Amino acid sequence: MNIDIPAFLPTPEPVREVERLGDEIAVLSAHLDAATGRLLDLIREFDARGGWNTGFLSCAAWLSWRVGLDRGAARERVRVARALGTLPRLAQALARGELSYAKVRALTRVATPETEERLLAVGKAGTAGHIERVVRGWRRVDRQAEARATARRPAIRALHVYQDEDGMVVIRGRLAPEVGAVLVQALAAARETLYQRARSMDAEDGSAEPPTMAQQQADALARVAETALHHGIDPGAPGERYQVVVHVDAPVLANADPPGQSVLEDGAHVSSETAQRLACDATRVVMRHAPDGRVMEVGARTRTIPPALRRALHHRDRGCRFPGCGLPFGQGHHIRHWARGGPTTLSNLALLCRRHHRAVHEEGYEMDRQQDGELSFRRPDGRLVPEVPPPMAVPRDPVHALRAQHDAHGLPLHARTAMPGWLGERLDVGWAIDVLHPLAASTR
Ligand SMILES: [Zn+2]
Ligand SMILES: [Zn+2]
Repeated sequence: MNIDIPAFLPTPEPVREVERLGDEIAVLSAHLDAATGRLLDLIREFDARGGWNTGFLSCAAWLSWRVGLDRGAARERVRVARALGTLPRLAQALARGELSYAKVRALTRVATPETEERLLAVGKAGTAGHIERVVRGWRRVDRQAEARATARRPAIRALHVYQDEDGMVVIRGRLAPEVGAVLVQALAAARETLYQRARSMDAEDGSAEPPTMAQQQADALARVAETALHHGIDPGAPGERYQVVVHVDAPVLANADPPGQSVLEDGAHVSSETAQRLACDATRVVMRHAPDGRVMEVGARTRTIPPALRRALHHRDRGCRFPGCGLPFGQGHHIRHWARGGPTTLSNLALLCRRHHRAVHEEGYEMDRQQDGELSFRRPDGRLVPEVPPPMAVPRDPVHALRAQHDAHGLPLHARTAMPGWLGERLDVGWAIDVLHPLAASTR
């Protein structure tokens, strides 16, 4: 049997077509990574100059509001942007489209100015999968070194909190005995509360498997943290268990302008704006004093937001109503202060987190409920803080615009710009870490 095979098989057109498609994907990805490099530069500068500090809790919160990133992604952008500030080689490789954002993100978890060069070489040689594995191994060595250092210094107190590869948060620490005792006590109290609730729920459905002690401890720690945040480290937080007595001169509550007394029970003086905030979510006892000093009124007792109304408020607002915040717990803010005749009704209340409650009372932010029931917020300079930022003008062909911009910067990007140097060999992570990590040799 004889079959004629031509010396060169021409690549069939459909195959060439998908190859071109693949190249196009690679080129555009390189452009996007290069643009991400520039984006991170801008975020780093914006963050350093506090540009987000216009009523937002953090740079990540601002990013999430302004460009629509989810919170996790926004936090990650800010983290990587900050890290790249001290890692110029990795920053440059990203800006040239030679290293993908995913690789840079992984490498910045472990890179330091000392190890940057080596890790850059790994980044260029390996695939994103290889780099994930190398970084995981690297962190293991970091943790071992840290554990050895801690063991050598038994008297030193420390708490290490870090995020594991799967996103779970790992906590390890050494506490002084008396501090440890407080923690153990708090965990036991939180466990008791949670367990009581679980028991009453079990009684209803009777199916759930009881959690292990370790799981209960984890839940208890979450409860302790939530409680601390919810009740606040400062006296401005809600909650019946912590009642702060504020003594105010009668005119102060109704109007922040006239000079007057506002004194906390322990003698600390606070501004009249602060006194108004403390009295706003009226779970505090406010004693109003007449000019001659006699107590005119014990305010809060009669202004307490009743539990049913508070539940309705939480149900309606779900979290802080300040644009872009959404923190899931907060304080009931009287839009028109009760001392100025504002009623304690759902329409005159809005949920605000502690940070934004302060913004509204003490930092000059204004808040109103409009005719249609929507809330409007204004900056101290009177400009509106929109719930959703206005859309940006985008060129009709953004891809073309991006390429033109990169061309103008003399950045030649092609289908192989970000190709790993890897030729298919098996990756020996243990060996790679031994060679690369400065502390790896001492672990053996
Ligand atoms: Zn308020
Ligand atoms: Zn808030």
